[in-house]
Amino acid sequence: MGLKTFERGIHPSYYKELTASMRVEKGLHPKTVIIPLGQHAGTPCEPLVKKGDIVEEGQKIGDVKAFVSAPVHASISGKVKDVDFYQTPVGMKALSVVIEGDSSVKEWTGTADLAALSPEAIREAVREAGIVGMGGAAFPTSVKLAPPKGRAIDTVLLNGCECEPFLSSDHRVMAEEPDKVIWGLRALMKAVGAQNGIVGVEDNKPDALEAVKRAAGADSAIKICVLETKYPQGAEKMLIKAALGRKVPLGKLPLDAGVVVNNVGTAVAVFEALNYKKPLIERVVTVSGDGIMEPKNLKVRLGVTFEEVIAQCGGLKDASKEVEVLNGGPMMGIAQTTIAVPVVKGTSGITVLSQDAAAALKYNPCIRCARCVEACPMGLMPYKLGDQGRTGMINEFKEWGGFACIECGCCSYVCPARRPLVQWIRVGKAKSRREEKLAVKAG
Ligand code: SF4
Ligand code: SF4
Repeated sequence: MGLKTFERGIHPSYYKELTASMRVEKGLHPKTVIIPLGQHAGTPCEPLVKKGDIVEEGQKIGDVKAFVSAPVHASISGKVKDVDFYQTPVGMKALSVVIEGDSSVKEWTGTADLAALSPEAIREAVREAGIVGMGGAAFPTSVKLAPPKGRAIDTVLLNGCECEPFLSSDHRVMAEEPDKVIWGLRALMKAVGAQNGIVGVEDNKPDALEAVKRAAGADSAIKICVLETKYPQGAEKMLIKAALGRKVPLGKLPLDAGVVVNNVGTAVAVFEALNYKKPLIERVVTVSGDGIMEPKNLKVRLGVTFEEVIAQCGGLKDASKEVEVLNGGPMMGIAQTTIAVPVVKGTSGITVLSQDAAAALKYNPCIRCARCVEACPMGLMPYKLGDQGRTGMINEFKEWGGFACIECGCCSYVCPARRPLVQWIRVGKAKSRREEKLAVKAG
């Protein structure tokens, strides 16, 4: 019998061999960090510090009274040099706190007794630590842990698929810190009252699979689910279908299927928040691609610039040639116009591709081959949605299910005409949202 998976999807070249077996190295302590106050889904934080203030590593520097939000913390000790708008790697400017470091480093240690912690105490600690989904979406974890009344959650599903090409940060986290992953999973289960925990891992990570299996031991409440290596296996809806056989209806959330999905890196952050009282101030980032001199997995402080991280990997292979730098991997990553942007909570990787950017942007007319339709895991018509998004046919875009698109990029990947379908679909969504806002304003 084949491994568990979902319908459709694609098998791109993964290039995981560049970093998959490389142990996580500690990044150099940065002299300066830029910490955006909005680096999560939801309401951005308001600054709690001003220029000239002295801050300690781990100190809360931004927060807001909003349900869907997460506070941000100083990732290094030092002096606040600026509070102003800076470019972020998600494509816009955000109010940010710039800290000039004093080079002191805090030790984070401690232990917690999970049996003694109440679900409320876990949720509160997760919120206070500013933990968000670390697979890239950066959705506040405390919100996922507080489902509406009457909505029972029976399973916490940890996402260890990491199906995006080049990235291996989750792989290394599972292989090197499996006990933290499983402890974090148990804490997440307790927070939502789930009886079952599952870690979903694609079969191209055998060492990670073995490590989490060993860490889970004989605990009958926790299962390790081996999944076929296929893109986008790590998308929440695909993962739930593959691991549990449950379908999340269009427009609904995993909790409507009784499931909460979290990334394996998030589980480690939960472990550290509860045991060490450590907020989310650093993360593992894969730096890879054929344009980078020494691909690596690095644990870096949030707010360090891409430029510094790339320099720690030996810099670019050929500085005289144009490269494309992505926040994330090539399927869902966002192309950067500058490398002076900071690593944020959702930065799972920095991919540097040595392709000729101008050539990559050229596309040809659609030949109606339907390969994009065959690849789409959501059963959509990407060639239609792409055109509708590009040309602003908003009503048709919505009617054809544009908002059901999970932006996985499978359609763009398989298109022989290299049409940037997912980018056009994103444009369609943005145009629709703008029109809806204008309509509300107009009354
Ligand atoms: S239309 Fe959306 S969901 Fe379907 S393949 Fe393209 S990006 Fe993925
Ligand atoms: S894969 Fe590309 S060329 Fe083929 S139908 Fe879809 S958009 Fe058109």
